[in-house]
Amino acid sequence: MITFDSVSKSYDSRTRKALDDISFTADRGEFVFLVGASGSGKSTVIRLILREEVPTKGRIAVAGKSVVKMPSWRVPYLRRGIGTVFQDFRLLPNKTVFANVSFALQVIGKSRAAMSTLVPDVLETVGLAGKEKRYPHELSGGEQQRVAIARAVVNKPGILLADEPTGNLDPVTSADIMAVLEKINRNGTTVLMATHDGEIVNRMAKRVIELSEGRIVRDVEHGTYGVAS
Ligand code: ADP
Ligand code: ADP
Repeated sequence: MITFDSVSKSYDSRTRKALDDISFTADRGEFVFLVGASGSGKSTVIRLILREEVPTKGRIAVAGKSVVKMPSWRVPYLRRGIGTVFQDFRLLPNKTVFANVSFALQVIGKSRAAMSTLVPDVLETVGLAGKEKRYPHELSGGEQQRVAIARAVVNKPGILLADEPTGNLDPVTSADIMAVLEKINRNGTTVLMATHDGEIVNRMAKRVIELSEGRIVRDVEHGTYGVAS
């Protein structure tokens, strides 16, 4: 589903490479944690998958297509197949939950009739059934992140990229959010999640890819946040 083959990225020729010759494959349906200190290159991996950046060297394929050689007119289609969730939710504050979620469908030209079934269905999936008319400020942080997840997956992307999705949430709420992400993954979506939350990584026992100074220093199934000492 996602393949990096000897990928390097330099933002600036005078500084250390943000990514230095990394290779990995995430198969369809996998759940992968991307861990590593701040500045290790996690967000760069995410931006390269979305083609917000292009690599300095190497090949990247998403769903079988080269992201590097892709003409710019195809990039919106690439992004339609990739849901994204961030630490800071990024909801539209003056729009209801329904509007926030249906926006992603409007962009791809879905009918009102389609929206009126797809939006309640996805809100049910994330545990927010019946909250269509609420505004973001009326919701808790955990509920706002559920709305962001609903928006990210409403058009059934093959991939969900989550960059520190629990970074602003307390441990109990974080665990609830992880249960939602796990459910979405069980439904067949490949999930790649960058995180600093060691407790979550250790409890979920999924694949862990660790970056350090732009290199992959660990890639293990059923991994932990840090190497056991
Ligand atoms: P992480 O997400 O793990 O914190 P990043 O991918 O954001 O790491 O950063 C990796 C390296 O690339 C860091 O040294 C960072 O300073 C640098 N970097 C990231 N984005 C840019 C940018 N837009 N311009 C220049 N350097 C950048
Ligand atoms: P656009 O805003 O370019 O029309 P879409 O609405 O088709 O993009 O977005 C499809 C998916 O790609 C959504 O999940 C959206 O969150 C994500 N996406 C689009 N552009 C960006 C971006 N600049 N940064 C992060 N994610 C993006």
